[in-house]
Amino acid sequence: MASVTKDQVLAALADVLDPDSGQNVVASGLISGVVVRDGNVGFALEVDPDQGAAKEPLRKACETAVERLSGVLSVTAVMTAEKPAGGQAGGHAQGHAHGHAAGHSHGHLHGGQAQARAPQADQLLPRVKSVIAIASGKGGVGKSTTAVNIATAMAAQNVRVGLLDCDIYGPSIPRMLNLSGQPEMVSERTLRPMANYGIKCMSIGFLVAEDTAMIWRGPMVMQALEQMMRDVDWGELDVLLCDLPPGTGDAQLTMAQRVPLTGAVIVSTPQDIALLDVSRGINMFQQVNVPIFGVVENMSYYVCPECGHRAELFHHGGARETARRLGVDFLGEIPLDISIRTTSDAGRPIVVTQPESPHAESYRQIAAGLVDKATSAVGGAGRAQPRIVMM
Ligand code: ADP
Repeated sequence: MASVTKDQVLAALADVLDPDSGQNVVASGLISGVVVRDGNVGFALEVDPDQGAAKEPLRKACETAVERLSGVLSVTAVMTAEKPAGGQAGGHAQGHAHGHAAGHSHGHLHGGQAQARAPQADQLLPRVKSVIAIASGKGGVGKSTTAVNIATAMAAQNVRVGLLDCDIYGPSIPRMLNLSGQPEMVSERTLRPMANYGIKCMSIGFLVAEDTAMIWRGPMVMQALEQMMRDVDWGELDVLLCDLPPGTGDAQLTMAQRVPLTGAVIVSTPQDIALLDVSRGINMFQQVNVPIFGVVENMSYYVCPECGHRAELFHHGGARETARRLGVDFLGEIPLDISIRTTSDAGRPIVVTQPESPHAESYRQIAAGLVDKATSAVGGAGRAQPRIVMM
């Protein structure tokens, strides 16, 4: 099947009328940033900031018009509430509302906004050398546990490290770092991050009750996330780890675009189904030009707490094989061990409380490997320039 072209997309969109102006959306200049890649189409619909929700049917109509084209595999239309700076298609002004509901179910790609990261990176986190996403294809694989233990391992290696809990829907980092209460304001607009075990931390869990967080809509999520980067006094950091919400849907993809990531780590369990998720996770970051630093296999094998016997419950080593097949690095494996669970759930990460354990050593090795990768990605000093990809 022949791939769809940008002109065909624009022609299809020219059939969509904006009921407010009576003009088609292309003629009235509402469409920008059209990107077509291997049948995956992304573009932005510019709307008045006050009109976000009212324009949702128009956004949907645009998607539907493009979906009908032959050769289209996926379509993502995002609403933006500001004109791109300089009127360039594809660029996005910093700080605009992103009218993209997080619950949106299409597995769609909007790689066009990879270009949007360039102007944002320095504004959002000017003193942070590298930002590493910790991601997983699905929930419950131990992503947050891994993020916390990697962070504590980095702190133990004198790396200035922060942990940003991006899981707006189920923030668990405060509990895992034994942090509660609310961050203080250091100035009118700026919050001081909370800190424990040498890690600076920010989470929506400090600001709202967990049940409130559950009903957040996509645009608010993106705003909250930007505030947790821009309006928090992170200070000088070598590494900011971002614990992304599980999964590879649109919400995660949008975050992968909006957070100025230096690289990404995928956490997986050895089960086959999770391994399928690994390739989805890798694919998601590749779509937005974020380098994959590698894969961590969690709950890799089981160590009997009584006798120390090691049992392989699942197809141990699957993540290593998958990583090799997909051409990404394998960063390490962590066993399923009750001590990891109890320490993590009690807010006393094993790296801190049992530093002599082999598990703590595994986390330290993974952390050291990541620091190396982040350092070489940013060229030893300063932040890597996000790559601008012309498509
Ligand atoms: P995710 O962030 O992927 O949803 P969590 O980090 O919240 O997953 O972990 C889910 C549960 O699994 C938690 O109770 C955690 O303590 C436990 N857990 C995570 N990794 C391990 C491990 N290697 N061994 C034992 N329990 C683990």
